[in-house]
Amino acid sequence: MERPHNFSAGPCILPLEVFEKASQSVIDLDGSGLSILEISHRSSAFVEVMEKARSLALEHLNLQNKGYKALFMQGGASMQFLTTAYNLLEKKAGYLDTGTWASNAIKEAKNFGEIEIVASSKESNYNFIPKNYSIPQGLDYMHCTSNNTIYGTQMKSFPDSDETPLICDMSSDIFSRDLDFSRFGLIYAGAQKNMGPAGATLVVVKEDILGKVSRTIPSMMDYKLFIKKESMFNTPPVFSVYVSMLTLEWLSRNGGVSAQEKKNRAKSELIYSEIDRNSLFEGFTGKEDRSMMNATFTLNDESLASRFDELWKSANINGLHGHRSVGGYRASMYNALPLESVEVLVDVMKHFEKTL
Ligand SMILES: *Cc1c(COP(=O)(O)O)cnc(C)c1O
Repeated sequence: MERPHNFSAGPCILPLEVFEKASQSVIDLDGSGLSILEISHRSSAFVEVMEKARSLALEHLNLQNKGYKALFMQGGASMQFLTTAYNLLEKKAGYLDTGTWASNAIKEAKNFGEIEIVASSKESNYNFIPKNYSIPQGLDYMHCTSNNTIYGTQMKSFPDSDETPLICDMSSDIFSRDLDFSRFGLIYAGAQKNMGPAGATLVVVKEDILGKVSRTIPSMMDYKLFIKKESMFNTPPVFSVYVSMLTLEWLSRNGGVSAQEKKNRAKSELIYSEIDRNSLFEGFTGKEDRSMMNATFTLNDESLASRFDELWKSANINGLHGHRSVGGYRASMYNALPLESVEVLVDVMKHFEKTL
Protein backbone atom coordinates (compact mmCIF):
# COMPACT_ATOMS: atom_id res chain seq x y z
CA MET A 1 0.00 0.00 0.00
CA GLU A 2 1.24 3.47 -0.83
CA ARG A 3 1.97 5.58 2.23
CA PRO A 4 -0.33 8.57 2.68
CA HIS A 5 1.01 12.12 2.57
CA ASN A 6 1.05 12.64 6.30
CA PHE A 7 0.50 16.23 7.47
CA SER A 8 -0.34 15.18 11.03
CA ALA A 9 0.60 17.73 13.72
CA GLY A 10 1.96 15.22 16.22
CA PRO A 11 2.67 12.42 16.69
CA CYS A 12 3.73 12.79 13.13
CA ILE A 13 5.75 11.53 10.21
CA LEU A 14 9.29 10.26 10.80
CA PRO A 15 11.68 9.04 8.11
CA LEU A 16 10.59 5.71 6.60
CA GLU A 17 14.10 4.31 6.97
CA VAL A 18 13.87 5.06 10.70
CA PHE A 19 10.58 3.15 10.92
CA GLU A 20 12.16 0.24 9.04
CA LYS A 21 15.27 0.05 11.22
CA ALA A 22 13.19 0.47 14.40
CA SER A 23 10.86 -2.34 13.41
CA GLN A 24 13.82 -4.67 12.72
CA SER A 25 15.30 -3.82 16.11
CA VAL A 26 12.07 -4.74 17.86
CA ILE A 27 12.83 -8.30 16.72
CA ASP A 28 16.63 -8.30 16.65
CA LEU A 29 18.81 -5.44 17.79
CA ASP A 30 21.92 -5.35 15.60
CA GLY A 31 22.26 -9.12 15.31
CA SER A 32 22.15 -9.72 19.07
CA GLY A 33 19.07 -11.93 18.72
CA LEU A 34 17.36 -9.77 21.34
CA SER A 35 14.71 -7.10 20.95
CA ILE A 36 15.45 -3.49 21.90
CA LEU A 37 12.37 -3.94 24.10
CA GLU A 38 13.72 -6.84 26.16
CA ILE A 39 17.29 -5.83 27.02
CA SER A 40 18.30 -4.17 30.25
CA HIS A 41 18.54 -0.41 30.13
CA ARG A 42 21.83 -0.95 32.00
CA SER A 43 23.21 -3.20 29.25
CA SER A 44 26.13 -1.80 27.27
CA ALA A 45 24.00 -1.92 24.11
CA PHE A 46 21.39 0.44 25.55
CA VAL A 47 23.85 2.65 27.44
CA GLU A 48 25.48 3.23 24.05
CA VAL A 49 22.11 4.18 22.52
CA MET A 50 21.46 6.69 25.29
CA GLU A 51 24.93 8.21 25.00
CA LYS A 52 24.66 8.46 21.23
CA ALA A 53 21.25 10.10 21.39
CA ARG A 54 22.42 12.64 23.94
CA SER A 55 25.63 13.50 22.13
CA LEU A 56 23.91 13.78 18.72
CA ALA A 57 21.33 16.15 20.21
CA LEU A 58 24.10 18.46 21.44
CA GLU A 59 25.97 18.13 18.15
CA HIS A 60 22.98 19.10 16.02
CA LEU A 61 22.40 22.15 18.20
CA ASN A 62 26.09 23.02 18.03
CA LEU A 63 26.31 22.98 21.82
CA GLN A 64 29.12 20.53 22.51
CA ASN A 65 31.76 21.72 24.97
CA LYS A 66 29.79 24.82 25.83
CA GLY A 67 28.63 23.87 29.32
CA TYR A 68 25.40 22.16 28.19
CA LYS A 69 24.03 18.72 28.99
CA ALA A 70 21.38 16.83 27.02
CA LEU A 71 18.92 14.74 29.03
CA PHE A 72 16.03 12.47 28.26
CA MET A 73 13.18 12.70 30.72
CA GLN A 74 9.52 11.55 30.78
CA GLY A 75 6.14 13.21 30.99
CA GLY A 76 6.29 15.09 27.70
CA ALA A 77 6.70 18.82 27.23
CA SER A 78 3.73 19.25 29.56
CA MET A 79 5.78 17.87 32.46
CA GLN A 80 8.54 20.34 31.59
CA PHE A 81 6.06 23.17 32.13
CA LEU A 82 6.37 22.46 35.84
CA THR A 83 9.84 20.89 35.90
CA THR A 84 11.44 24.09 34.59
CA ALA A 85 9.68 26.11 37.29
CA TYR A 86 10.51 23.58 40.00
CA ASN A 87 14.22 23.82 39.18
CA LEU A 88 14.58 27.47 38.26
CA LEU A 89 11.83 29.64 39.73
CA GLU A 90 12.69 31.18 43.09
CA LYS A 91 10.71 34.42 43.03
CA LYS A 92 9.57 35.65 39.66
CA ALA A 93 9.73 34.56 36.02
CA GLY A 94 8.62 36.17 32.75
CA TYR A 95 6.58 34.38 30.08
CA LEU A 96 5.57 35.14 26.52
CA ASP A 97 1.96 34.08 26.04
CA THR A 98 1.86 33.00 22.41
CA GLY A 99 -0.63 30.13 22.45
CA THR A 100 -2.23 27.23 24.25
CA TRP A 101 1.07 25.55 25.11
CA ALA A 102 2.58 28.78 26.39
CA SER A 103 -0.46 29.48 28.53
CA ASN A 104 -0.38 25.93 29.90
CA ALA A 105 3.26 26.53 30.86
CA ILE A 106 2.22 29.75 32.62
CA LYS A 107 -0.52 27.97 34.53
CA GLU A 108 1.87 25.33 35.88
CA ALA A 109 4.62 27.81 36.76
CA LYS A 110 2.19 29.88 38.84
CA ASN A 111 2.33 27.09 41.42
CA PHE A 112 5.92 28.01 42.18
CA GLY A 113 6.23 31.79 42.17
CA GLU A 114 5.17 35.06 40.64
CA ILE A 115 4.68 35.07 36.88
CA GLU A 116 4.81 38.17 34.76
CA ILE A 117 3.28 37.86 31.30
CA VAL A 118 5.71 40.07 29.41
CA ALA A 119 3.71 40.04 26.17
CA SER A 120 0.68 38.22 24.80
CA SER A 121 -1.23 37.74 21.55
CA LYS A 122 -4.22 36.14 23.25
CA GLU A 123 -6.58 38.98 22.28
CA SER A 124 -6.32 38.05 18.61
CA ASN A 125 -6.50 34.28 19.11
CA TYR A 126 -2.71 34.06 18.97
CA ASN A 127 -2.41 34.77 15.27
CA PHE A 128 0.86 36.72 15.64
CA ILE A 129 4.03 36.83 17.71
CA PRO A 130 4.25 39.86 20.01
CA LYS A 131 7.20 42.17 19.37
CA ASN A 132 8.63 45.35 20.87
CA TYR A 133 8.62 44.30 24.49
CA SER A 134 11.56 44.33 26.81
CA ILE A 135 12.52 41.86 29.48
CA PRO A 136 11.99 43.27 32.96
CA GLN A 137 14.84 43.30 35.47
CA GLY A 138 15.12 40.75 38.22
CA LEU A 139 13.54 37.68 36.60
CA ASP A 140 14.80 34.19 37.43
CA TYR A 141 14.23 33.30 33.77
CA MET A 142 12.28 34.24 30.66
CA HIS A 143 10.17 31.53 28.97
CA CYS A 144 9.07 31.42 25.35
CA THR A 145 7.66 28.94 22.81
CA SER A 146 9.60 28.94 19.55
CA ASN A 147 6.84 27.45 17.40
CA ASN A 148 3.14 27.60 18.19
CA THR A 149 1.99 24.32 16.74
CA ILE A 150 -1.75 24.98 16.98
CA TYR A 151 -1.78 28.49 15.46
CA GLY A 152 1.10 28.17 13.01
CA THR A 153 3.24 31.05 14.27
CA GLN A 154 6.98 30.83 14.80
CA MET A 155 9.43 33.13 16.52
CA LYS A 156 11.96 34.45 13.99
CA SER A 157 13.96 36.31 16.62
CA PHE A 158 14.34 35.87 20.34
CA PRO A 159 14.49 38.40 23.16
CA ASP A 160 17.91 39.69 24.19
CA SER A 161 18.44 38.45 27.68
CA ASP A 162 22.07 38.83 28.65
CA GLU A 163 21.37 38.51 32.35
CA THR A 164 18.22 36.41 32.38
CA PRO A 165 18.36 32.75 31.27
CA LEU A 166 16.12 32.18 28.28
CA ILE A 167 14.02 29.00 28.47
CA CYS A 168 12.36 27.73 25.31
CA ASP A 169 9.74 25.12 24.51
CA MET A 170 10.96 23.92 21.09
CA SER A 171 8.71 20.87 20.92
CA SER A 172 7.51 21.45 17.40
CA ASP A 173 10.53 22.97 15.67
CA ILE A 174 13.60 21.46 17.28
CA PHE A 175 16.19 20.36 14.68
CA SER A 176 14.24 22.13 11.92
CA ARG A 177 16.34 25.29 11.58
CA ASP A 178 19.65 26.76 12.56
CA LEU A 179 19.68 29.17 15.47
CA ASP A 180 22.33 30.36 17.89
CA PHE A 181 21.26 27.84 20.50
CA SER A 182 23.88 29.10 22.95
CA ARG A 183 21.53 32.03 23.64
CA PHE A 184 19.27 29.66 25.56
CA GLY A 185 19.74 28.52 29.14
CA LEU A 186 17.37 25.60 28.66
CA ILE A 187 15.57 24.06 25.71
CA TYR A 188 12.99 21.30 25.95
CA ALA A 189 11.01 19.31 23.41
CA GLY A 190 8.65 16.36 23.51
CA ALA A 191 10.06 13.77 21.11
CA GLN A 192 6.96 13.21 19.03
CA LYS A 193 7.23 16.07 16.53
CA ASN A 194 10.64 16.06 14.94
CA MET A 195 12.56 13.41 16.77
CA GLY A 196 10.83 10.17 17.66
CA PRO A 197 7.83 8.44 19.20
CA ALA A 198 6.02 10.01 22.17
CA GLY A 199 7.40 9.07 25.57
CA ALA A 200 10.78 10.78 25.75
CA THR A 201 11.37 14.46 26.28
CA LEU A 202 14.64 16.07 25.34
CA VAL A 203 16.02 18.68 27.75
CA VAL A 204 19.17 20.61 26.90
CA VAL A 205 20.36 22.67 29.82
CA LYS A 206 23.30 24.91 30.59
CA GLU A 207 24.60 23.52 33.82
CA ASP A 208 25.48 26.82 35.43
CA ILE A 209 21.84 27.98 35.62
CA LEU A 210 20.99 25.11 37.99
CA GLY A 211 21.26 24.87 41.77
CA LYS A 212 19.89 28.33 42.53
CA VAL A 213 16.49 27.58 44.08
CA SER A 214 15.95 26.86 47.75
CA ARG A 215 13.18 24.26 47.52
CA THR A 216 13.66 20.50 47.53
CA ILE A 217 13.20 19.08 44.04
CA PRO A 218 11.57 15.64 43.64
CA SER A 219 14.04 13.16 42.12
CA MET A 220 12.09 12.55 38.91
CA MET A 221 12.13 16.29 38.18
CA ASP A 222 15.63 17.11 39.32
CA TYR A 223 17.79 18.18 36.37
CA LYS A 224 20.98 17.90 38.43
CA LEU A 225 20.16 14.34 39.42
CA PHE A 226 19.34 13.42 35.81
CA ILE A 227 22.66 14.90 34.70
CA LYS A 228 24.52 12.96 37.38
CA LYS A 229 22.73 9.70 36.49
CA GLU A 230 23.15 10.31 32.74
CA SER A 231 19.36 10.14 32.20
CA MET A 232 19.26 6.70 33.85
CA PHE A 233 17.93 7.56 37.30
CA ASN A 234 15.18 5.06 36.60
CA THR A 235 14.18 3.05 33.53
CA PRO A 236 14.12 5.51 30.66
CA PRO A 237 11.58 5.23 27.80
CA VAL A 238 13.94 2.94 25.91
CA PHE A 239 12.10 2.66 22.62
CA SER A 240 11.46 6.36 22.31
CA VAL A 241 15.11 7.15 23.06
CA TYR A 242 16.24 4.50 20.58
CA VAL A 243 14.08 5.81 17.74
CA SER A 244 15.13 9.37 18.59
CA MET A 245 18.74 8.24 18.18
CA LEU A 246 17.89 6.74 14.78
CA THR A 247 16.24 9.99 13.66
CA LEU A 248 19.23 12.05 14.82
CA GLU A 249 21.54 9.71 12.88
CA TRP A 250 19.30 10.16 9.82
CA LEU A 251 19.62 13.92 10.28
CA SER A 252 23.43 13.59 10.35
CA ARG A 253 23.43 11.54 7.15
CA ASN A 254 21.30 14.19 5.46
CA GLY A 255 23.39 17.27 6.13
CA GLY A 256 22.18 18.20 9.63
CA VAL A 257 20.00 21.07 10.72
CA SER A 258 21.10 23.63 8.12
CA ALA A 259 20.36 21.31 5.17
CA GLN A 260 17.04 20.47 6.79
CA GLU A 261 16.23 24.15 7.18
CA LYS A 262 16.62 24.66 3.40
CA LYS A 263 14.18 21.82 2.71
CA ASN A 264 11.72 23.10 5.30
CA ARG A 265 11.94 26.60 3.82
CA ALA A 266 11.20 25.26 0.32
CA LYS A 267 8.18 23.30 1.57
CA SER A 268 6.73 26.21 3.51
CA GLU A 269 7.29 28.73 0.69
CA LEU A 270 5.44 26.43 -1.67
CA ILE A 271 2.35 26.09 0.52
CA TYR A 272 2.24 29.74 1.59
CA SER A 273 2.53 31.03 -1.97
CA GLU A 274 -0.44 28.88 -2.91
CA ILE A 275 -2.46 30.04 0.11
CA ASP A 276 -1.76 33.65 -0.94
CA ARG A 277 -2.47 33.05 -4.63
CA ASN A 278 -5.58 30.89 -4.34
CA SER A 279 -8.76 32.96 -4.06
CA LEU A 280 -10.52 30.25 -2.03
CA PHE A 281 -8.13 30.26 0.93
CA GLU A 282 -6.81 32.62 3.51
CA GLY A 283 -3.83 32.27 5.85
CA PHE A 284 -4.61 32.36 9.56
CA THR A 285 -1.50 34.16 10.83
CA GLY A 286 0.38 37.39 10.17
CA LYS A 287 2.77 36.82 7.24
CA GLU A 288 5.97 37.74 9.04
CA ASP A 289 5.27 35.19 11.80
CA ARG A 290 4.39 32.23 9.61
CA SER A 291 5.68 28.89 10.82
CA MET A 292 7.85 26.70 8.60
CA MET A 293 6.46 23.68 10.46
CA ASN A 294 2.69 24.24 10.65
CA ALA A 295 0.85 26.22 7.97
CA THR A 296 -2.66 27.19 9.09
CA PHE A 297 -5.32 28.36 6.67
CA THR A 298 -9.07 28.57 6.25
CA LEU A 299 -11.58 28.50 3.43
CA ASN A 300 -13.15 31.87 2.70
CA ASP A 301 -16.42 30.07 2.17
CA GLU A 302 -16.91 27.47 4.92
CA SER A 303 -19.72 25.82 2.99
CA LEU A 304 -17.14 24.42 0.56
CA ALA A 305 -15.43 22.43 3.32
CA SER A 306 -16.91 19.02 2.63
CA ARG A 307 -16.02 19.24 -1.08
CA PHE A 308 -12.44 20.25 -0.31
CA ASP A 309 -12.15 17.53 2.35
CA GLU A 310 -13.27 14.93 -0.13
CA LEU A 311 -10.65 16.07 -2.64
CA TRP A 312 -7.62 15.99 -0.37
CA LYS A 313 -8.66 12.71 1.19
CA SER A 314 -8.93 11.13 -2.24
CA ALA A 315 -5.39 12.39 -2.98
CA ASN A 316 -4.20 10.17 -0.11
CA ILE A 317 -3.54 13.13 2.21
CA ASN A 318 -3.81 12.55 5.96
CA GLY A 319 -4.09 14.83 8.98
CA LEU A 320 -4.99 18.16 7.39
CA HIS A 321 -7.77 19.29 9.71
CA GLY A 322 -6.93 22.32 11.86
CA HIS A 323 -6.92 22.25 15.63
CA ARG A 324 -10.39 22.82 17.08
CA SER A 325 -9.38 26.20 18.55
CA VAL A 326 -8.48 27.56 15.10
CA GLY A 327 -10.60 25.51 12.70
CA GLY A 328 -9.86 25.28 9.00
CA TYR A 329 -6.72 23.44 7.96
CA ARG A 330 -3.21 22.89 9.22
CA ALA A 331 -0.48 21.42 7.07
CA SER A 332 2.26 20.24 9.41
CA MET A 333 5.50 19.86 7.49
CA TYR A 334 7.97 18.35 9.88
CA ASN A 335 11.50 17.34 8.88
CA ALA A 336 10.58 13.95 7.44
CA LEU A 337 7.76 15.21 5.21
CA PRO A 338 8.98 15.21 1.60
CA LEU A 339 8.51 18.23 -0.67
CA GLU A 340 6.50 15.95 -2.93
CA SER A 341 3.72 15.72 -0.33
CA VAL A 342 3.40 19.51 -0.30
CA GLU A 343 3.31 19.49 -4.11
CA VAL A 344 0.40 17.04 -4.00
CA LEU A 345 -1.48 19.28 -1.56
CA VAL A 346 -0.84 22.39 -3.64
CA ASP A 347 -2.08 20.57 -6.77
CA VAL A 348 -5.27 19.65 -4.92
CA MET A 349 -5.80 23.30 -3.90
CA LYS A 350 -5.28 24.46 -7.51
CA HIS A 351 -7.54 21.78 -8.89
CA PHE A 352 -10.23 22.66 -6.34
CA GLU A 353 -10.19 26.29 -7.49
CA LYS A 354 -10.64 25.19 -11.11
CA THR A 355 -13.63 22.97 -10.36
CA LEU A 356 -15.66 25.90 -9.00
C1 LIG B 1 2.83 19.23 21.32
C2 LIG B 1 3.37 20.36 22.12
C3 LIG B 1 3.40 20.33 23.53
C4 LIG B 1 2.82 19.21 24.34
O1 LIG B 1 3.67 18.15 24.33
P1 LIG B 1 3.39 16.84 25.22
O2 LIG B 1 4.67 16.09 24.99
O3 LIG B 1 2.18 16.19 24.67
O4 LIG B 1 3.22 17.27 26.63
C5 LIG B 1 3.97 21.40 24.17
N1 LIG B 1 4.48 22.45 23.50
C6 LIG B 1 4.45 22.52 22.16
C7 LIG B 1 5.02 23.70 21.46
C8 LIG B 1 3.89 21.46 21.44
O5 LIG B 1 3.87 21.52 20.09
